[in-house]
Amino acid sequence: MKIARICSNRFCVYLSAAADIRVLFIAICAIYNLDTSKTILAINHLQVHNSLTEKSVNLVTFETVNIILKTNPMKYLLLSVILATSLLISCNSGNRNKPGRDFEKLLTASSWYQHSAEMKALYHQGFNIARERVESELTKPKGEKPLAVVVDIDETMLDNSPFETQLMKEGETEDGWHSWTNKASARALPGALEFAKFAEGKGVAIFYITNRDSSERESTLKNLASVGFPFATEDHLLTRGDIAFSNGNVSSKAGRRARVASTHNIILLIGDNLNDFSEIFENRKENDGKLPLQKMQLFGKRYIVLPNPMYGAWEKPLFDYQDKLSEKEKTQLMLEKLLDK
Ligand SMILES: [Mg+2]
Repeated sequence: MKIARICSNRFCVYLSAAADIRVLFIAICAIYNLDTSKTILAINHLQVHNSLTEKSVNLVTFETVNIILKTNPMKYLLLSVILATSLLISCNSGNRNKPGRDFEKLLTASSWYQHSAEMKALYHQGFNIARERVESELTKPKGEKPLAVVVDIDETMLDNSPFETQLMKEGETEDGWHSWTNKASARALPGALEFAKFAEGKGVAIFYITNRDSSERESTLKNLASVGFPFATEDHLLTRGDIAFSNGNVSSKAGRRARVASTHNIILLIGDNLNDFSEIFENRKENDGKLPLQKMQLFGKRYIVLPNPMYGAWEKPLFDYQDKLSEKEKTQLMLEKLLDK
């Protein structure tokens, strides 16, 4: 019994981790004449709900092992050999179905983002201030250039949190993000659409500056238009790499802001990342993500920042600017940096 428990615990680990589990189970079920379709359904369920349903993992695992033991205890040895071999295989099979980011941390952040009234209130607060700023600018004497507001797209005007849900449930795939944007199905964030229409009604242009790439232009415009955003046109969308900043950093939005500023008077910038406002925020190694003092007074006036706890440049200082840390290493660094007094 003790051996069975040890084996089934390992089995649990394997069930949680291995992408090749379906193949293995088909083989085991064939040997033991078990119901393959039910087992596959259980494994699909386990993979979809991975860390969320640890109890379910244990339950299904014990049930499966028990069925095999009851069928013929002598076959347990053969099962152990198969599982031990498959564990070794799984160690070498890579991270095909591994969640893209730490599951529990992303779960809390996404739940807050999708379901809290506070998130909605913060977005409305941001766009309410944006309206006031537009109205205030309109009282000033007219300049030569027409007025414009520059907005980011992701987690500023469009809500991609369902993609984060997909990441948690299905893991990170090579073209996962592009598959999501190709659907052109992201919804407008609270207050975003109303603000954009308000600006349009006041004769203020909207320019969308995003770090989506050029291959996503068509689907992005389609998504913006389908939701009802004004200015969803080629000349009002600047994607990553459209105009590189002088330092060659295609992710920097500085060059694209300069392009808009060459024809329009930018009165307001709205985004969920400080990099959406000014290049001064881009080198977080220098300012550690803290606001340079000279820019502080611009928040709520020229810059409207919106909340995004799911991802962003704010993570970089936490992880010491390292890209390839394991989730365990990331958690350790986050704990080390948390203040307790
Ligand atoms: Mg964004």
